[in-house]
Amino acid sequence: MEPGDIIVRMTAASICGSDIHFITGEVPLEPDFIIGHEGVGVVEAVGTGVKSFKPGDRVAIPYMVWCGTCPECKAGRTYSCTADLQFGVGKARGDLPGLQAEYVRVPFADSSVAHIPDSVSDREALFVGDILSTGYIGVINGNIQPGDDVAIFGAGPVGLCAVACARLFSPSRIILVDLEDYRLEAGKRLGATHTINARHTRAGSEIRRITGGVGVQASIEASGAEAAVDDCLTCTAKGGIISAIGMTPFSIRLAMGKVFYKNLTIVSGYTSLHEMNRLLKLIEHKQLDLTSLITHEVPFSRILEGYRIFRDRLDNCIKVVVVPD
Ligand SMILES: [Zn+2]
Ligand SMILES: [Zn+2]
Repeated sequence: MEPGDIIVRMTAASICGSDIHFITGEVPLEPDFIIGHEGVGVVEAVGTGVKSFKPGDRVAIPYMVWCGTCPECKAGRTYSCTADLQFGVGKARGDLPGLQAEYVRVPFADSSVAHIPDSVSDREALFVGDILSTGYIGVINGNIQPGDDVAIFGAGPVGLCAVACARLFSPSRIILVDLEDYRLEAGKRLGATHTINARHTRAGSEIRRITGGVGVQASIEASGAEAAVDDCLTCTAKGGIISAIGMTPFSIRLAMGKVFYKNLTIVSGYTSLHEMNRLLKLIEHKQLDLTSLITHEVPFSRILEGYRIFRDRLDNCIKVVVVPD
């Protein structure tokens, strides 16, 4: 155990869409490597250098850790921390075993881990380490102003978190696009004002129609699908922003001519401990609640069943939580 480490007894972890890429082999990973990069738990032990945590503290763990002392961390660019330690991604990103485990070693705890407020449950706090932070940073990067229109592509867990976060900035319309009606319905409950099933409708042109030909000031791409990226180029208003938070292991085509002609900005980005703490405060004060995303819960001993349900979208699955047996 290093001086900056804490050991956390996990009380809940989630299965993420990017974990599926390892299971299918689309993204290579060493055999038997523990995956998972979003979870909450209770501190069991702390290293000699840890200042902010003690045994018994409830904590939310992010998808990666930040050393807090490298030049990039000191400059506020924690996403490019030179330690480059990401949970559950294998040797390529720091060889740090993931969070779908009973106990987890968390390096650099003081600069990476968030305290969960007493009134916030594990289920409420679970998503701040990955999907909720990602949805939130997608919205922040979209620079939504009150009264703007926003389109969100992908009603998976990250896209649905983006819907809930977009509402915090009072857009006039939140137009949500997906291929699954049950996910679009979940989006309506979180604040989407319009939904489009892209199986039946050309989403880009439909969004232009809804917005009177203008398009949306911001589109948030949370699907990773090439067709959705193309729709973003179609439906984003001139001078608008495409905020890309979708994860795809593949290369996709991008019509750069449209980017130039429409004076578009394409942005992406990672989150940090700062956003996690902000989101936990919003949850504590009842301004955000993403617990409706949790459709399934399985014990660690049945985690493979959880993966199957999530991957195949069985039983209207949105998010699977894994808990101790
Ligand atoms: Zn993830
Ligand atoms: Zn660093």
